[in-house]
Amino acid sequence: MKIGILGEVYPGENRVALTPDSARQLGKLGHSCAIVSGAGLKAGISDAAYAEAGVTIYPDAQSLCANVDLVAKVRPPTLDEVKLFRKGQTLISFIYPAQNGELLEALKEQGVNTIAMDMVPRISRAQKMDALSSMANLAGYRAVIEAANNFGRFFTGQVTAAGKIPPAKVLVVGAGVAGLAAIGASVSLGAITYAFDVRPEVAEQIESMGAEFVFLEFEESQDGAATGGYAAPSSPEFREKQLAKFRELAPDMDIVITTALIPGRPAPVLWTKDMVEAMKPGSVIVDLAAERGGNCELTKPEERIVTDNGVIIIGYTDFPSRMAAQASQLYATNIRHFVADLTPGKDGVLVHNMEDDVIRSSTVTFEGGITYPPPPLKVQ
Ligand code: NAD
Repeated sequence: MKIGILGEVYPGENRVALTPDSARQLGKLGHSCAIVSGAGLKAGISDAAYAEAGVTIYPDAQSLCANVDLVAKVRPPTLDEVKLFRKGQTLISFIYPAQNGELLEALKEQGVNTIAMDMVPRISRAQKMDALSSMANLAGYRAVIEAANNFGRFFTGQVTAAGKIPPAKVLVVGAGVAGLAAIGASVSLGAITYAFDVRPEVAEQIESMGAEFVFLEFEESQDGAATGGYAAPSSPEFREKQLAKFRELAPDMDIVITTALIPGRPAPVLWTKDMVEAMKPGSVIVDLAAERGGNCELTKPEERIVTDNGVIIIGYTDFPSRMAAQASQLYATNIRHFVADLTPGKDGVLVHNMEDDVIRSSTVTFEGGITYPPPPLKVQ
């Protein structure tokens, strides 16, 4: 099978869905790879490096799409890109079908079989293709680096001849994949790190990383386990308790990293305007939930703002792209593993097996129909 990789057209997107190494691995499965000229440049990969790995270089997206069986990319395709696809061609990409109904319809109309990397189920067998996790891990780390860069002070405490410097205090809200990566980065930079999540089972993980779990006294068991390990919306009473706790912490925190998400819903607002106003000047909030509306009431997606009381709020939505070389390496590996599952014979023949739980869940358009949302998994 011929696999073609498009360059990313979304402004500021630096990642690419293929590396020379992943091309070599795909070659071992019987596939040949092609890429649009210059597609890897912003991730530090030249056409020459691809060519050395046996990748064919096409001058533009049009000629590439006309010559390959499967197209892979990072960001959801634009409607103009969809027009380049052919009936029966397979597309693998982030799609976010719940938010992109028009795109889904266009892909169906075009007769494309679409695999959404964001729909890969979070089960052990699929971990190697779990691009949401590999990207969230990068985002969590990078959020702390951006916070440190904007904070303008030490994270770690120091005792020097010129005086004593206290360690920074960091609060991480939401301890999923991104939150845990943020906790790891924050602790390793020497900050006193606190973390909160509605899922009490993460307390042990938080503490094993050297951070302190912010414990909330509440009679009801927190409702996190209700949706297969994901968080469910909190009850109003629980939310009030949580906000009261955050209000208490706000004046004392130098950095707040928010990562709280609930599948299929806008991000819960957990860091309100009055909490921002209670923070010290120079404090930094990095809102990793900005793309889904933000956990902080004042976040502006894509922007860095400074409030009247001198608090910096970062709402960037491109953290993995800011680490494009490694993000591309990890994403390309996720793609390569998915293609391996689509090639059970290791003979270059694509078998789009809709009986396979992982393939079925991730397929959002197939043979002229929309196949999203998927049925429940057969095996959890
Ligand atoms: P996510 O991005 O959906 O959410 C981030 C975090 O926000 C979650 O930990 C969630 O509990 C938390 N959150 C939601 N509402 C909150 C609130 N009001 N206050 C504070 N925190 C709140 O989550 P994720 O990072 O994708 O991971 C979710 C779960 O899935 C985790 O248990 C993770 O370990 C698990 N997971 C499993 C696999 C696998 O088995 N293959 C892969 C990835 C993740």
